[in-house]
Amino acid sequence: MENRISKVVVVGGGSAGWLSAGVIAAEHRIDPQARQPLEVLLIESPDVPTIGVGEGTWPSMRDTLRRIGLSETDFILECDASFKQGTSFRNWQTGSGDTYSHPFTIPIGYAETNLAPHWLALTDAPQFADAVTPQTALFADCLAPKQITTPEYAFVVNYGYHLDAGKFAELLRRHCTEQLGVKHIKANVSQINAAENGDIRSVTTDRVGEIAGDLFIDCTGTSSLLLGEHFKIPFQSRQAHLLNDTALAAQVPYTEEDRTIQSCTRSTAQAAGWIWDIGLPTRRGIGHVYSSAHISEDEATAQLLAYIKEIAGEKASGSIVPRRIRFQPGHRREFWHRNCVAIGMSSGFIEPLEASALVMIELAAGMIAEQLPPTREIMDVVARRYNRKFLRHWNQIIEFLKLHYVLSARDDSPYWQDNRAAASIPEELSEKLLLWRHRSPWHQDAGAVDDLFPTASYQYILYGMGFKTEPRQTFSHRQQQRQASELFRKNAARAAQLQQALPGNRELLNKVREFGFQKL
Ligand SMILES: Cc1cc2nc3c(=O)[nH]c(=O)nc-3n(C[C@H](O)[C@H](O)[C@H](O)COP(=O)(O)OP(=O)(O)OC[C@H]3O[C@@H](n4cnc5c(N)ncnc54)[C@H](O)[C@@H]3O)c2cc1C
Repeated sequence: MENRISKVVVVGGGSAGWLSAGVIAAEHRIDPQARQPLEVLLIESPDVPTIGVGEGTWPSMRDTLRRIGLSETDFILECDASFKQGTSFRNWQTGSGDTYSHPFTIPIGYAETNLAPHWLALTDAPQFADAVTPQTALFADCLAPKQITTPEYAFVVNYGYHLDAGKFAELLRRHCTEQLGVKHIKANVSQINAAENGDIRSVTTDRVGEIAGDLFIDCTGTSSLLLGEHFKIPFQSRQAHLLNDTALAAQVPYTEEDRTIQSCTRSTAQAAGWIWDIGLPTRRGIGHVYSSAHISEDEATAQLLAYIKEIAGEKASGSIVPRRIRFQPGHRREFWHRNCVAIGMSSGFIEPLEASALVMIELAAGMIAEQLPPTREIMDVVARRYNRKFLRHWNQIIEFLKLHYVLSARDDSPYWQDNRAAASIPEELSEKLLLWRHRSPWHQDAGAVDDLFPTASYQYILYGMGFKTEPRQTFSHRQQQRQASELFRKNAARAAQLQQALPGNRELLNKVREFGFQKL
């Protein structure tokens, strides 16, 4: 075959680089007997550090880890990982202690029954998420999503992970090089060399000279060396919609060795941003994401330290010096250009409110692995489809994150007012909100089968934040009333049952350390 794609060169050794290399290599396992083996090579700078944050994943990470052949027990122990079952939001609605949750489990009976209109009609209802899923009952008691007898990657309730990003990249590196045949070169890419047709022919490194390839994956982080610097694909800022552009990240020790580990990420809204709080087995990851146009770094630091002091005490907060990370919210105008595709921070970044960056990396790597063009001729077709798909994903992330701000009734600072300014709201979101005043989102609102956020997620945010829908009382609604009451009852019973049956997060993690999960 002419112009066969036989060598993939990944530049960058952060989570994006190693996940991409791993997923592609696992799909095209390097088999010396194969007639057309695929070589996967990763070049990583020994000097430029990885971003070192990115501690919350989606449940999709379980599939990704299984796909590349990693044991869940090894992953949990080596990455200081814990179980994440969703996000709990505080102070987003009024700023005076309000809370709601976005769990990973869809509402009970969701395939056949839309419980939202029935919940809206209840007079003395529990919070929406509590009424429709047993998962949020586990948040309060810091319970695990499974038992030690549940096999690797299987679950009782759906879950993703909290993890240490540095340890994750290190585990992936070892697994990719030792088990999946990925070649690893530590060197700085200093030059990108173009072929006659405009593709990238090779990259020049300071330590091993020139490295040629057929497909180049740009995982160089915010520098976007190949797609941005070499191909000059413009960056599209989305700050008009999402104002946050700075993060302060800190690692906070537990005050007592055996502190309980939260089942979800906690997100607490502030005057000009929000604070994330993630519980790992050995420490917490806590950070403040904010808009630098609305608050100074000193004020943002003071708010972060006040939060840390409140949850971890004076001693823990006293010695902490948060790391500042500036970012421009947005993405490249296209992601796959000629024979180069950017994945991870090099393709774009938007605040981590719903931890959507790692899942985008998983999706990108998965699509490249599955649709790897056999020849250069076919690559442009795959690239066009990839660009369409990923632009849709970015737009949905922006719309979904904006939903959290638009629904807020906070009026205590210009930040919250600016976040609700009509010009800052994507048109499609305004349209949906208008529609959802009269009917609750459900299956007919799904744009595509691979939507990042299912309609159930919209329900959790809308009704968690007090959005009012006044649905028409239809015949089928009246018909389903008994079924809905039965589902609410079943859900409450299941929640009580799980609260009895499931261990605490730390208890399960201790057992994993002692016995490991049963291998699949
Ligand atoms: C504050 C914050 C919080 C976040 N929280 C989350 C979260 O909860 N969940 C989530 O999913 N995501 C989160 N993210 C995003 C997540 O951290 C990233 O998507 C993820 O870490 C991937 O980063 P990366 O590999 O693209 O880039 P990096 O980690 O920056 O890696 C870049 C790599 O490129 C290499 N490199 C650079 N230049 C060269 C060169 N010249 N030659 C060779 N190699 C080179 C570097 O050495 C490095 O190995 C967060 C991001 C931020 C900023």
